[in-house]
Amino acid sequence: MEKLLQDVKRALELLKRDGIEGWGLNVHHDLEEYGDIIETAPAEGCTSETCAHNSHDPAAPTRRWVPHEGTTLVHLGGETLGDETRIDYFALLSPGGDVVYLKLVDHPYYWSTLDSVDASRVPVWALASLADTEEA
Ligand SMILES: [Zn+2]
Repeated sequence: MEKLLQDVKRALELLKRDGIEGWGLNVHHDLEEYGDIIETAPAEGCTSETCAHNSHDPAAPTRRWVPHEGTTLVHLGGETLGDETRIDYFALLSPGGDVVYLKLVDHPYYWSTLDSVDASRVPVWALASLADTEEA
């Protein structure tokens, strides 16, 4: 019983950790060294074996990418496109002063993806929003 309680406590601690979450979240391998991936909800979606999953991705769990302790994750901003695709930009600040820019693409019918992007690929309005939050 004690082992079970310890495992439950560990699971609750993991769920409390902040990060970037998405259905079927696919994290680019470049980001492996910066964080961990945990599953925060059981698989949801199409489980039909006869379906070709053309207009949607098959069932997948909700995953959260949790940056390592000591780093700071800042949400820069986001936009929703006409086909319901949601794009969000983040900056991951390391204690040494390095910055990694992240792009989350979230679609209601397809698995979400998290990639690192070059600073030049982050829209200026997203970068400029950081100045507002730092002044506040
Ligand atoms: Zn399907």
